[in-house]
Amino acid sequence: MTISELQTQSRSLSGIQATSDSLHLGNYIGALQQFVEQQDTHDAFFFIANMHAITVEQDPTELRDRTLRTAAQFLGAGLDPEKSTIFVQSHIPAHAQLSWVLECLTGLGEAQRMTQFKDKAGKNEHVSLGLLTYPALMAADILLYQADVVPVGEDQRQHLELTRNLAERFNHRYGQTFTVPEPGILKETAKIYDLQDPTAKMSKSAPSPAGRIDILDEPKVLAKKFKSAVTDNDTVIAYDPEGKPGVSNLLTIYSAFSGTPIPGVVAEFDGKMYGHLKVALADLAVESLRPVRERTQELLNDPAELARMLHIGADKAAAIAETTIREVYERVGFLSR
Ligand code: ATP
Ligand code: MG
Repeated sequence: MTISELQTQSRSLSGIQATSDSLHLGNYIGALQQFVEQQDTHDAFFFIANMHAITVEQDPTELRDRTLRTAAQFLGAGLDPEKSTIFVQSHIPAHAQLSWVLECLTGLGEAQRMTQFKDKAGKNEHVSLGLLTYPALMAADILLYQADVVPVGEDQRQHLELTRNLAERFNHRYGQTFTVPEPGILKETAKIYDLQDPTAKMSKSAPSPAGRIDILDEPKVLAKKFKSAVTDNDTVIAYDPEGKPGVSNLLTIYSAFSGTPIPGVVAEFDGKMYGHLKVALADLAVESLRPVRERTQELLNDPAELARMLHIGADKAAAIAETTIREVYERVGFLSR
C-alpha cells in the first residue's frame, strides 16, 4: 500500500480491556471480528486498554499477564501487525494527558448519567473516581488518533456519543482540532447476552463464568455451557429477542459464526428442538474458535516476540498521539517548555 492510499483511508480505532485471561464471545463477535475486517479496508489502530482496566481493582501480576494474553488473542483472531497498529494504552502517555483536558470539559452530571458507570458502581464496593472518568479517557483514546470510525459493541454507544460531544465542544471552544468519530456498531451482533441470564450482556466482569463463552475455553467446557444455556418453556425455535431472549441469543451467535442471516438460521432449524440448536451451535463454535485458540496458545509460548510487536506498535501510535497532544496543549493555553 502506498503512502497516499494510507492517507486517504478512513481511520478505524478501538480497544479491549485487559480484564480477563480470555476474551468472550461478545468481545469476539461484537468487536474483534470487526477489527479483523477493518484492517483490510481502514488505517487500523487497536489497543489493549490496561489503563481502563484499573478503574476496578486488578492484581498487578495478573494485569501484566492479561495484557500480553489479550495481545495474543488479537493476533490469534487474525489481526496482522503488518496491517494494523497494535499497542498497549499505557505505553502512550498522551492518553492520560488528553484525558485530563477532556475531564475538565465534561460535566459531573454528564459522567454520572453514563449507564456503564451506574452498572459498575452498583456492583463494586469501592467506587473509584476513575470509574466515573472512564468515558473521558475513552474519548481521549479515540480523539488522539483522529479516528473516523470506532468499531464497538452496543454497550459503548453512549460513551461514543459523549466522545462526539466532547470533540465538538473542544473544537467549538478552542478551534477545529478533532475529527468527530462515527460509531461502528453492527446491528444484530452488537450485543451478545449471557447464556444463564439472557437479559444481561455477556461480560468479562460478570459474577459467574457459567453464562460466558470464553474464546479460549476447552471444547468440552464450551459445549457444556451451550448445552446448559437458559431458554424458555416454549418449544418453537423463533427469533424474538423480547419474548424469547435465550433462544434469540443462540440464533444470533449461530448466525455470526455461520455467516447465514438470522431468518436463514431460523429456517434451518424449523421443526427442530432446542437441544438440536444447542448441539449444532456448540459444534460450530468449537470448530470456528479452534484455530483462534491454537494460534493464541502458540503466540503465548513466545512472549518476547509479542512484546517486540507491541513495541513497534507503540512507536507508530506515539508518532500520531504526540502530534495531537502538542496541538491540544497549545490550543488550551499551556505554556510550552
Ligand atoms: P468488562 O466487564 O471488564 O467491562 P467487557 O466484557 O465489557 O469487560 P470490554 O473490554 O469492556 O469487555 O469491551 C471490549 C469490546 O467488546 C467493546 O467494544 C465492547 O462494546 C464489546 N463488548 C463487550 N461485551 C459485549 C457483548 N456482550 N456483546 C457485544 N459486544 C461486547
Ligand atoms: Mg466493558
